[in-house]
Amino acid sequence: MSEHPLQKIIEPFKLVSTRALVDGVVAFSALSRLREELSGVSPEVDVAHVELAFQRDPQGYVLASGSIRADGGVVCQRCLDIVPISLDVPVSWAFIVNEETSCDVPRAYDVIALEEESVSLYDLVEDELILALPPIPMHAEGQCSAPGYVSPNEEQIERSEEKKNPFEVLSEIRKKR
Ligand SMILES: [Zn+2]
Repeated sequence: MSEHPLQKIIEPFKLVSTRALVDGVVAFSALSRLREELSGVSPEVDVAHVELAFQRDPQGYVLASGSIRADGGVVCQRCLDIVPISLDVPVSWAFIVNEETSCDVPRAYDVIALEEESVSLYDLVEDELILALPPIPMHAEGQCSAPGYVSPNEEQIERSEEKKNPFEVLSEIRKKR
């Protein structure tokens, strides 16, 4: 995987005309909104790897497709320790210049409405990463150091075990007859 820096500003309509491949890495330290959301274990080594292919689809839409991968850490909402996370976000962007046409774009694509020819690729990458973060990050079962931790799932299972299986009840009734 390439380790050169990702270009910051792109011109999607030019990139599709040459069917360009855009790849590189962007450090989390350059993504301030993401940095607020994340608490990296070692922020200076946290980077996102971006690989995008620009091309027009048969209908003429200006597309960028590929992936954004990143490793980092988020704060567990129960024990406040770091939970390592590994994100692999598929990208399928359709660039448009006029927002009025956005409803025509096939649903498989995420519409990126441009106000001008160029756009910050860092912003687009950052948006995708923030959306991919777990809404309430928590350690997995058995790995959380918060005391007395019972996950909502466990509670549900216990509750449903308390209720008797209707078939059991039925067979008990039958035995009594
Ligand atoms: Zn935890």
